[in-house]
Amino acid sequence: MQSSRNPLIIGAGPAGLTAGLELVKRGVTPRIYEASAHVGGLARTPADGDWRIDPGGHRFFTRSEDVADLWRSLLPADQWIAVPRRSAMLVRGHYVQYPLVGRHLLTQMGLHRGARGAGSLMWHRFRRGMGSDHSGSFRDWGRREFGRYWYDLFFDGYVRKTWLTDPEEITSDWANQRIKPIGWRLSRGVDPMDQDVFRYPRHGPGQLWEAAAATLRDHGVGIALNSPIVHARYDGTTWMLEKQNGTTASGDALFSSMPLRSLVDALEPEPPKHIKTIAARLRHRSLITVAVALSKRYDIPYNWVYTPEPHLRVGRIQNYGRWSRDLSPRDWNGTFVGLEYFLLPDSDLWVAGDDGLGAVVEQDLAALGLDASTIERVIVVRSQHAYPIYNSARDRSVVRVRDYLREHYPSLHPMGRNGMHHYDNQDHAMLSAMRSVGRYFGENVDPWQVNSDLGYHEHGVLKR
Ligand SMILES: Cc1cc2nc3c(=O)[nH]c(=O)nc-3n(C[C@H](O)[C@H](O)[C@H](O)COP(=O)(O)OP(=O)(O)OC[C@H]3O[C@@H](n4cnc5c(N)ncnc54)[C@H](O)[C@@H]3O)c2cc1C
Repeated sequence: MQSSRNPLIIGAGPAGLTAGLELVKRGVTPRIYEASAHVGGLARTPADGDWRIDPGGHRFFTRSEDVADLWRSLLPADQWIAVPRRSAMLVRGHYVQYPLVGRHLLTQMGLHRGARGAGSLMWHRFRRGMGSDHSGSFRDWGRREFGRYWYDLFFDGYVRKTWLTDPEEITSDWANQRIKPIGWRLSRGVDPMDQDVFRYPRHGPGQLWEAAAATLRDHGVGIALNSPIVHARYDGTTWMLEKQNGTTASGDALFSSMPLRSLVDALEPEPPKHIKTIAARLRHRSLITVAVALSKRYDIPYNWVYTPEPHLRVGRIQNYGRWSRDLSPRDWNGTFVGLEYFLLPDSDLWVAGDDGLGAVVEQDLAALGLDASTIERVIVVRSQHAYPIYNSARDRSVVRVRDYLREHYPSLHPMGRNGMHHYDNQDHAMLSAMRSVGRYFGENVDPWQVNSDLGYHEHGVLKR
C-alpha cells in the first residue's frame, strides 16, 4: 500500500542517504535535495579519469552491527578490501609510528629524547594521581595523557595546524575518542600495526554512497543534485523547501544534514534573535586536499603521515597507493599522495585559488623530499564544512538550539556531522539518521545521544 507520508531530506551525504534507505525499508519514499553535483558529502570520491581522490582518508570501522550490515548490503564482498592501518608522525626528520607506542618513543628519536619524554610523562601522571590537574582544555588533557614533552612534540603543533586555534581554547571532549593512549604492551611476533585493519571500498568511500544512491533511485527516490536549499518554511503541519532557483517542494517532515547554523538561518518563521545568534557561533573548518601524482616511485610505508611541524604548511599526507591500488590507473607505478590543508573558510589559502596553492604545495613537497619536477597530475578538492569547530561555547549552544528546534518544529530532524554540529564519523552520521527515522515513526530514541560516550572509538565490528 502507498504511504501517505512524504518526507523531505536535505543532503545526500552518509546521513541523508541512510535516512533515505531507512525510510524506504519502512515503505516511505522520500525526496532528497543535494547542494553539490555529487552524492557522498564529505565521504565522496571525486575522480579525474582513472584517478580517484579520497578527500579525507576514510577508514570504515564501526561498533554498530546495523551500520556494518548496511555497508555489507550495499557493496558486494569483492568490492571491499581489508587495509592494514599504518600511520606515522613526521617529527624532527623521524617517522614515528602512530598511535604512539612506548618502546618506539623511547628509542626511535634517540635515547636522550626518549628519557626526557618518559620523565615528563611520569611527572604529569604523578600530578594527575595527586588530583591537581583536571582542567578540560585539550592542552591540559594532552599533557596529562602524554606528558608535556611528547605532547609538545606530537600534538601541540598538529592541533594548531589542523584546528587552527590555541590548544588551550578547545575542549578535550573529542580527544578520548580520537586519540589512542600510548601503547606499552609488548606483543610477540605480529607487528601490532598489522593487527589494526580497516575496511575500504576498492574505489574509495564514494563508491559506497554511489551504490546507496543507485539503490534509492531503484526504489523511486528522487535525488535532486545541484539543489541547494535556501529556505525551509513550516506552517505547523507541512514543510515547504525552497531551492536556490526558486522552485519548491513540500512534505510532512524534514530530515536535515545541512550545517545546523545554516538550517537555523533558512527556517521560516524565523527563530528568535537569541537562537540565531547562538547558532551563528557554530563554525566550521575547511579542508583542501591536493592530490599529486608523481611519476617517481617513493616507498612510503604508511597509509598516512601527520606533519605537526610548522615548517610544513600541510597537516597530513595520504598515501593513496596504500589505501587501494584502484585509486590510480591500473598500469601506473608512481606515487599518488593527497596533501591535506586545514583552513578557516576566509583564510589566505582558501581564497588564493588553485594557482595560489601551487607554490605552497611545491614547497611542502620539497621539504618532504618529494621531487616536484616529476609531478604528472594535480587535482584539487575543496570541502568547505569539513569539521565542526569545538570550543567552550559549543556544547551549550548546540543544546539550546536543539531544544528550541524540538519544541517549535517537532517534525524537523537534524542529523549527521554538521546537521548536529558533532565530530562524527560516517557510522555516527548514519546512526543519527537511523534514529531520526525511528523518531519519525514514534520510537523513543534520541539521535542526539549517538557518539556521546567518551571511550576510544577507533575500532569496530567490521574488521575482516
Ligand atoms: C578529513 C576527514 C577525514 C575523515 N575520515 C573519516 C574516517 O576515516 N572514517 C569515517 O567513518 N569518517 C571519516 N570522516 C567523517 C565523514 O566524512 C563524515 O562523518 C560523514 O561524511 C558525515 O556525513 P553527513 O551526511 O552527516 O555529512 P556530509 O558528508 O557533510 O553530507 C552533508 C551533505 O549535505 C549537503 N548540503 C549542505 N547544505 C545543503 C543545502 N543547503 N541544501 C542541500 N544540500 C546541502 C552537502 O553538500 C553534503 O553533500 C572524515 C571527514 C573528514 C573531513
